Amino acid sequence: MGKLLIVGSVAFDAIETPFGKTDKILGGAAPFISLAASQFNVESAIVSVVGEDFPQEYLDLFSEKNIDINAIEIVKGEKTFFWKGKYHNDLNSRDTLETQLNVLANFKPVVPENYKNADVVMLGNLNPSVQLSVIAQMETKPKLIVLDTMNFWMDNTLDELMDVIEKVDVITINDEEARQLSGEYSLVKAAEKIHAMGPKYVVIKKGEHGALLFHNGNVFFAPALPLEEVFDPTGAGDTFAGGFTGYLAKTDDYSFENMKRAVIHGSNLASFCVEKFGTRRLKELGPDEVYKRLQQFKALTQFDIEIS
Ligand code: AMP
Repeated sequence: MGKLLIVGSVAFDAIETPFGKTDKILGGAAPFISLAASQFNVESAIVSVVGEDFPQEYLDLFSEKNIDINAIEIVKGEKTFFWKGKYHNDLNSRDTLETQLNVLANFKPVVPENYKNADVVMLGNLNPSVQLSVIAQMETKPKLIVLDTMNFWMDNTLDELMDVIEKVDVITINDEEARQLSGEYSLVKAAEKIHAMGPKYVVIKKGEHGALLFHNGNVFFAPALPLEEVFDPTGAGDTFAGGFTGYLAKTDDYSFENMKRAVIHGSNLASFCVEKFGTRRLKELGPDEVYKRLQQFKALTQFDIEIS
């Protein structure tokens, strides 16, 4: 079993969807990633920062799930990162209504001593300079570094982002962002170009249309489970990343074949995330439900065909 280090925002989110709205609830990339990864009982830790206003109850939630919170810095007298978003009717697109960086503005990550030899490093969506600093602090070369990022960093800090991309093994990115980063409309060509920037594996997420994994001219596709109701897509990408890295850390096998399974586990967990606001569904999620849905996943794509 490998050890998983997670870096990412820990936030208050206010979300509006066609089905309702929330006040400030637990959000940010790291909670979604770590809660998803906790399904695999891996040893994991979060590197992040919050303000004095962050409830102890949320920190306790991580501890209950055996997620190490010693490297979540609490800054006295300051406020936690806040993000407010509103989804359009199709739930595929959203507008960011407000971003208050607060403690994230001056965040200097510190990797705990006992995680400087982590097997898997999951760099959640954050300023690329923070992601670079985490990579630089590792004492032994991780078996796998996975990067998640977004268009905001491509628009504002492209040079630093390119430095991170060069150093990672896997990048997970959505289809629009892959097109922006590569300048190619075809996702196959986009993946090729991104591959040439550094990552050996490129995962392109297509929301309700599943995810593609590219490696060395090979491509694997995992659908998203067709759900009756999607309630709130916030954090689906992070949940995917948490399931993906949690499974790889648990199995300690970083081959392409195993990465295909990791993509399925990530997609499976993401299908739960979207069923309730924020992290609510992940918090209550038990192994039986996860197992049952994995079987549905398998049935969804299994078919017999004779090719002579
Ligand atoms: P996703 O739906 O996968 O894009 O992730 C949504 C999460 O990203 C929310 O919980 C937000 O708190 C967080 N988020 C939004 N903008 C940023 C940002 N600029 N930096 C870090 N985290 C962010």
